Amino acid sequence: MVGAESGRPHVALLPSPGMGHIIPLLEMAKRLVLHHGFHVSFITITTEASAAQTQLLRSPNLPSGLHVVELPPADMSTILHDDMTIVQRLCLIVQESLPYIRSVLRENPPQALIVDIFCTDAFQIAKDLSIPAYSFFTAPTALLALSLYLPTMDREIEGEYVDLPKPVQVPGCNAIRTEDLLDQVRNRKIEEYKWYLLSVSRLPMAVGIFVNTWEDLEPVWLRGLRENSFFQQIPIPPVLPIGPLIKEDEPLTDFDNDCIEWLDKQPPDSVLFITLGSGGTLTSTQLTELAWGLELSQQRFILVVRTPSDASASGAFFNVGNNVMKAEAYLPQGFMERTQEVGLVIPSWAPQVTVLRHPSTGGFLSHCGWNSTLESISHGVPMIAWPLYAEQRMNATMLTEEVGVAVRPVVGEGKNVVGREEIERVVRLVMEGEEGKEMRRRVRELQSSALATLKPGGPSFEALSEVAGTWTTTAH
Ligand code: UDP
Repeated sequence: MVGAESGRPHVALLPSPGMGHIIPLLEMAKRLVLHHGFHVSFITITTEASAAQTQLLRSPNLPSGLHVVELPPADMSTILHDDMTIVQRLCLIVQESLPYIRSVLRENPPQALIVDIFCTDAFQIAKDLSIPAYSFFTAPTALLALSLYLPTMDREIEGEYVDLPKPVQVPGCNAIRTEDLLDQVRNRKIEEYKWYLLSVSRLPMAVGIFVNTWEDLEPVWLRGLRENSFFQQIPIPPVLPIGPLIKEDEPLTDFDNDCIEWLDKQPPDSVLFITLGSGGTLTSTQLTELAWGLELSQQRFILVVRTPSDASASGAFFNVGNNVMKAEAYLPQGFMERTQEVGLVIPSWAPQVTVLRHPSTGGFLSHCGWNSTLESISHGVPMIAWPLYAEQRMNATMLTEEVGVAVRPVVGEGKNVVGREEIERVVRLVMEGEEGKEMRRRVRELQSSALATLKPGGPSFEALSEVAGTWTTTAH
């Protein structure tokens, strides 16, 4: 047995597929090994794994004591269809992997199991094997609060939530505008809604719910969950903010090193970094407008380009990093030559954390995925909010209206793309305007608070430490 052999207490983590899930759970795993003396089994579902995911999990830099357990790929040939949405695909892949998960846990039972939101099916296995199970919610507390409220909404509200005359008032928390509601709840008739509802309705089975956030970032939502009588009555398990857990380092290819060398030559805070998470893609018209807007702004930039998709805003979710493509084919003619003094174009995937950490990076045009958001704040970089899918519209609203670290471009009346002039405006605003300076001041304040909360004595460090302490005393 892994844990017994090493003489360390043993816990297992089970992330959902997808970089946005693997990355924070891997960081939690590293912390458990390095700071709290655990042996960690990191159980990974390899079915449909992207190249970026495989590269990360096979990195030689993982600490000894962190054991990546690759499950055999499940045969999905008769189960998945091209028109299925991400959540439905993820849940089906997890479901087909359950026998493998059960056998890994039975063979080497950990003192605790921590599962991602789309793996809550595994709570039942943990129960059968008498393993205490926790959840790690990799999205913001705002979404956790809405998700814990969702089963009640499902019972009490008739019709579509997006048609409600007023914003959704999560008890004790802020209201969420119906247009910001996550994709998964925008149409109650589709399979994706049913899968999402099922996944979140199992959350109260957890002994505790870890959240990748910290007190200073989401005070209202955390307080609402802890103190509001609605949540006390459900009842929900303790909500434990242990973040921001972000990727600390990443393997760099020669191509990545060229990008960093280019950044080394740019002035401080002068470069806008543009990439849209692990799956985000733009339509070809939107990519053209973005390129023109950048050129008009005359600011320095690093632009990550993916094959445009007119069908889906998350077209690269399962294959990011897989393809070697010629980015210039998707950009306006002559763009590369005209911007070569100020810009760098990278196909598909960039070393995001290394770029955000670099002193020359001064802004981030982001799809507002939660990891990207935490990475940007943790490195003190203000954002242009460009939400695409999942809960990203909620995140964009929070960052612009509650937290004050982002600006969101306006889509013109009756249009479905953001025009080049608007892009030029927001790029200039963040990179050289007075509002940009204020956002930079605010984000640096939060950056300090993020550093402090993760140090011994800080609230996030101590929250994990306290729970981990209970696992070391639980003999299995
Ligand atoms: N990422 C990266 N390079 C890229 C795009 C994304 O390293 O070009 C990483 C990024 O650092 C983050 C993750 O992929 O850790 C994306 O997670 P997020 O939650 O922001 O978005 P999701 O992929 O879940 O939509």
